[in-house]
Amino acid sequence: MSKPLEGRIALVTGASSGIGEATALALAEAGAKVAIAARRRDRLEVLAAQLATLGAEPFVLTADLASEDEAQRIVKETEAHFGRLDILVNNAGVMYLEPVEEADLGRWRRMLELNVLSLIASTQAALPGMRERRDGHVVNISSTAGRVANPNAAAYSATKFGVGAFSEALRREVYKHNIRVTVIEPGVVQTELRDHIGHAEVKANLNAWADSMRQLQARDVADAIVFCVSRPSHVNINEVLMRPTDQE
Ligand code: NDP
Repeated sequence: MSKPLEGRIALVTGASSGIGEATALALAEAGAKVAIAARRRDRLEVLAAQLATLGAEPFVLTADLASEDEAQRIVKETEAHFGRLDILVNNAGVMYLEPVEEADLGRWRRMLELNVLSLIASTQAALPGMRERRDGHVVNISSTAGRVANPNAAAYSATKFGVGAFSEALRREVYKHNIRVTVIEPGVVQTELRDHIGHAEVKANLNAWADSMRQLQARDVADAIVFCVSRPSHVNINEVLMRPTDQE
């Protein structure tokens, strides 16, 4: 029996851990060929070996996506390698949480560049090919923090509200070219994301809250993404908001 994404080419950013890694695997299981990008080459190589066993013909791209040039390069290299790009999953992201008054603006700038500007840059690079073929799907990973703004998450929420706004405007620009845009907004997912919070008290409180519930697993989010990108081409699921059942 043919798989739903047989013959499709996908690129997943931030694929070296968490949601991106699970998404690359889920896309491969659904039959897609997959390019994977992040900074940690060793982690990507381990994933690539798994993807190869699924027949996904993985293409590994090492890149620091805080640079918009790098975000555009990985799209172009994926197109050159596979001949086209059908599904772009803009997942790479960081979450630096701290009170506004204490914030390290350099760190917040890097978060804004990665979470927003890089996502815009990779999308921009993918659009000409998708428009020419009248076929493409851009999946942008936002968060419940893109719907609700909490203390200590001012800049993170600014990035994720930004992803939501960008995605909706993009959808309205490109739907006429048969290009779909989907925003995924997960609540708490058990990944490495919280490890990078520099503010000890904020990190401890958030971890305690997350540990108090049955968290979403990366695979839960990956399954939602695969569901969206495997719908028939006349169906565009614009937005998926998903929380752990235990999250208020
Ligand atoms: P992880 O920390 O496990 O994954 C983050 C990924 O982004 C890694 O693959 C990392 O790879 C990559 N990344 C980080 N910085 C860069 C960079 N400068 N250049 C290239 N890649 C980079 O966390 P998650 O899987 O949880 O996060 C994935 C997305 O999901 C993020 O956008 C996050 O905001 C979002 N999200 C997560 C939630 C959660 O609760 N976990 C909830 C809602 C949304 P490497 O370090 O190798 O570069």
